[in-house]
Amino acid sequence: MGDFRFSHGGTCPICERDVEFTAKFTWFRDHLLCSGCGSIPRERALMRVIAEHYPDYRKLVVHESSPCGRGVSTKLARECPGYSYSHYFENVPPGERHPERGERCENLESLTFADNTFDLFITQDVMEHIFHPEKAFREIARVLRPGGAHIFTAPLVNKAKPSERRAELSPAGDIVHHFEPEYHGNPVDPKGSLVTMNWGYDIAAHIYETAKTPSVVFQIDDLDAGIRAEYIEVVASFKR
Ligand SMILES: [Zn+2]
Repeated sequence: MGDFRFSHGGTCPICERDVEFTAKFTWFRDHLLCSGCGSIPRERALMRVIAEHYPDYRKLVVHESSPCGRGVSTKLARECPGYSYSHYFENVPPGERHPERGERCENLESLTFADNTFDLFITQDVMEHIFHPEKAFREIARVLRPGGAHIFTAPLVNKAKPSERRAELSPAGDIVHHFEPEYHGNPVDPKGSLVTMNWGYDIAAHIYETAKTPSVVFQIDDLDAGIRAEYIEVVASFKR
């Protein structure tokens, strides 16, 4: 332990340069970093799927919920004039701006955008933190234009097992835990975000049942693009 060091040269789908992908820890999901942009594998997999399915993404109207300030988020913000983003803040009315941060607040379960607003809707490791994911998938489908897509990452930790709800809200609004509470880092909340869903590959069927958008799970392994790790599936839900 401590002496692990991995390095592989390749081309990064995000910064589009010849780079070294290096890791000092064996958990590549968080540690296989691009020397050019600092991105991690799931971000490079996401960019691969966006660029392959929407090669003119720079000209599209794109919205990202809860960007992480790195990788795909900063690339889209820099290269797409039609990019916008929002975060969810508990104490800010959806559609309004946070008084200090100046950033727009949106609740994925109840978006304030008009129908058919966006070509692409991006989320990165967000959909495992939603209490009513069926509402969120329906809302995202509503605000997408026909021909558009919700392209996102979420750790499909249950793989071929059925998805499970880790936590839900009681009718009184209290959190009911079905598993030991687990939290992931949240860029706008130091408490972190509660994981509400253990998703599996059946997420695609779940989205189709609830939002009627045909959905595909992409599993990519391409070390020359720095795409190698567990739980880096990309899901794309296409609005027809
Ligand atoms: Zn890069």
